[in-house]
Amino acid sequence: MTSAIDLDKVARLIELPCDARQLIERPGQEIRSTLNIIHDGSLICADAYLVIHCSVRGPGKGGIRLSADVDLAETGRLAELMTYKCALSKIPFGGAKSGIRLAPESLNSDSRTAMIKEYVHCFQPFLTAGIYIPAPDMGTDSSDMATIYGCTHMPECVTGKPPRVGGLPGRLEATGYGVAAVTGMAAQDVLGREIVGCSVAIQGFGNVGRWAAQFLARRGAKVTAVSDITGCAYSETGFPADELMEASVNDLSCLHERLERDDLLGLPVDILIPAASGQTLHAGNSSMVRARLIVEAANEPVTADGDAVLAENGRVVIPDILANAGGVVASYAEWRQAKSGEVLEREQTYKIIEDRLGRAYRAVSSAVRDINVDWRIAAQALAVNEVAQAMVERKWVFLR
Ligand code: NAD
Repeated sequence: MTSAIDLDKVARLIELPCDARQLIERPGQEIRSTLNIIHDGSLICADAYLVIHCSVRGPGKGGIRLSADVDLAETGRLAELMTYKCALSKIPFGGAKSGIRLAPESLNSDSRTAMIKEYVHCFQPFLTAGIYIPAPDMGTDSSDMATIYGCTHMPECVTGKPPRVGGLPGRLEATGYGVAAVTGMAAQDVLGREIVGCSVAIQGFGNVGRWAAQFLARRGAKVTAVSDITGCAYSETGFPADELMEASVNDLSCLHERLERDDLLGLPVDILIPAASGQTLHAGNSSMVRARLIVEAANEPVTADGDAVLAENGRVVIPDILANAGGVVASYAEWRQAKSGEVLEREQTYKIIEDRLGRAYRAVSSAVRDINVDWRIAAQALAVNEVAQAMVERKWVFLR
C-alpha cells in the first residue's frame, strides 16, 4: 500500500491513529471499465477508471482526465490528492478522480461525444447517486460536462458546465484565478514583497497556465516566460495582459523571443509556476531552477527527488493541494448553486475562491512557522488531520 504523500512524516507530526492511516492508504473504491465506440467505421476501446479515495468528508469530487498516459495508479494518486485538497479548503467533499486512457486528438467531435456518453453509461450508478461528482481535468472541458449533464438530467451531478446550462460564471478560470491569488500571498510571505513587479515564468499554457498568467499580469506581476509542449516564449519586460489572453506560445515567441521549451526552468525569475503535467520538475532538472518561489499550479509537478534538490538550494515550494484548489472551491459553489437554484455572479465566484484559499493559506503558513516544516508537509498534515478527525466523528475509526 502506498500513498501519494509522505504519510510517515505526516503521521509522526499529527499522531495519526493507525486505523485512520490504514483507511487513507487504501482507496475506498476502484472501478475499471472499457469504453467502446465506433470512430470512422472502426472500433475504439479505451480503458476508463474511477477511483474514490475517501468519502468520509462528503461525496467524491475530482476531474476526468482524458489522455493516452492515464493509468489506474495515476488516477489513484490524483484521487488521494483531491481528498487532501478538499480537506485543506474545508469544503465538504471527499477525493476522487477519473481517467480515460485515450489521446483526445484521436477523436473528432462526434466520437468524443459518443465516448463521454459511453463513460456516463458505464459509471451511471456513481454519477446519479451523487457518489462521484466529476469536473474537467486535462483533456476534458465544459462541453464534455454539458454532455454528462445531458445524460443524467441532474445539474448537481457534474460541475464545470458552461454557464448557460447551470455552470458557474468564473468556473472556467477558477483554478488560474486561485493560483494567482495564492502566488500573491506567497510573494509577500516568502519573498517579502508585493506581487507587483515580481517576474514570473509559467510552464504550461493551457487552461490553468493561461488564466494564471492573465490574473498575475492584472495584479501587476511581470510574466516574462510561458511555455507549452512545443516551445517557450520570452520577454524580458513581460508580456502585455491582452497578448497573454489571445496569443499562443508560438504567436508570443514570434512577437517577442523564442527559447527552447525547458530553458524556461532556468530563467532568472522571482517565481516559477509549473502548470503543465505531473513530474516535470525532477532530480535531473531541479538544480537549474533559479526562482526562489515555486507555486505548483499543476498536480504533482515536482517529484520527491526534485523537492529535495529544490530544498537544498533554498527554494520554497507552495504545494498543489493549496495552490490549485481554486477549481474545486468553485466547483463546490457550482454544486451549491445547482442544489439551491441561486445564480452567482462572476465576482462572487472570485470572492469565494479568494476567501477559502486565503483561510487555507494562512493555516498552512502558521503551521510552517509553528512546527518548522516545509509548506508541503504542513499542508498535508493539516489536511490529513482534518480527514482523520472526520473518520473519528463518523465512527469509521476509534481512538484507542
Ligand atoms: P491543459 O491540457 O489545458 O494544458 C496543459 C498545457 O501544458 C498545454 O499547454 C501543454 O502544451 C502544456 N505542456 C504539456 N507538457 C509540457 C511540458 N513538458 N513543458 C511545457 N508545457 C507542457 O491542462 P490544464 O487543465 O491546464 O491542467 C494543467 C495541470 O493543472 C494538470 O496537472 C491538471 O491536473 C492541473 N489542474 C487543473 C485544473 C483545472 O481546473 N483544469 C484544476 C486543478 C489542477
